[in-house]
Amino acid sequence: LAAGEYGPEQGGRVIAHFGRTLDVRPDQGGEAVRCHLRANLEGLVTGDRVIWRAAHDASDGVVVARGERDNVLERPDARGQLKPVAANIDQILIVFAVEPAPHANLIDRYLVAAEATGIAPVLVLNKVDLLPEHGGELRDLLGRYEGLGYPVVTTTIEREGGLSALHARLAGRTSVFVGQSGVGKSSLIDRLLPDEELRIGALSKDTRKGTHTTTTARLYALPSPAPGEASEGELIDSPGIREFGLGHLDEEQVTEGFIEFRDILGHCRFRDCRHRHEPGCALLAAVERGDIHPERFASYRRILESLGEA
Ligand code: GDP
Ligand code: ZN
Repeated sequence: LAAGEYGPEQGGRVIAHFGRTLDVRPDQGGEAVRCHLRANLEGLVTGDRVIWRAAHDASDGVVVARGERDNVLERPDARGQLKPVAANIDQILIVFAVEPAPHANLIDRYLVAAEATGIAPVLVLNKVDLLPEHGGELRDLLGRYEGLGYPVVTTTIEREGGLSALHARLAGRTSVFVGQSGVGKSSLIDRLLPDEELRIGALSKDTRKGTHTTTTARLYALPSPAPGEASEGELIDSPGIREFGLGHLDEEQVTEGFIEFRDILGHCRFRDCRHRHEPGCALLAAVERGDIHPERFASYRRILESLGEA
């Protein structure tokens, strides 16, 4: 067979990308393969599922189609335009910490931004080694989010087994970590992927020996926490993803981002109710009754106000 000929179509997943070149991990297993894109394809990102064909001499491959996306994480580029950075993510782990102490409003902002992507948010409280015996306020705060149905996981890098709840949460899913600087994202990820070989070893041999350093997202298969245990899921990570924030949401997305509002919204007297001081506003009534936490409603107001400023 001549060089430059390609074998049958097969499935794969993008684990890294560099312009029009990307590393594809075959669904059938085996090493990642450096692939280029068919001319009519563009905009692929890490996490995308693709149809590709391997060169007969196995030197490289060509991606011929992109699979349907379950979802996509977007970030504004330098000019403020939203650009996809990763796809097919099962959960957004919003990391916050005992120190610096989280503000409810900040957690709400992350939750609203996550809800707008359609990717399930999970709250991760790190540094619980610093939690005083009866850290009442923080526990109340966490309880509020658990009451809304959000999973909450507590972690610490300072204790043996401090990541066991996190490992359980990661298993079998594709995750991203987001959160403010200083909460411990790098520390957690360093422990999940302790081995440099794990980080670069998964890349195609061309990428490993090439000069391609990239700040775009990478997909990592997490090792099992103990020998013989199942693989612990997948992580997509980049500096840009860690900085994921409120982005460019409109008023409707913010309103929908408060999940406890959703069943109530249809009951306002006016269809175009903006839930400020309209008579017959079902949201305001729910706050009155105590069905919506006043701090959540205050967050809602503040987020809307900040949209106006942007
Ligand atoms: P990032 O900015 O979110 O990536 O945060 P880093 O991983 O750089 O961590 C910020 C600081 O918090 C570092 O000094 C870490 O050593 C510390 N840190 C991270 N996790 C923990 C933890 O579980 N407990 C304590 N006490 N400190 C932690
Ligand atoms: Zn209303």
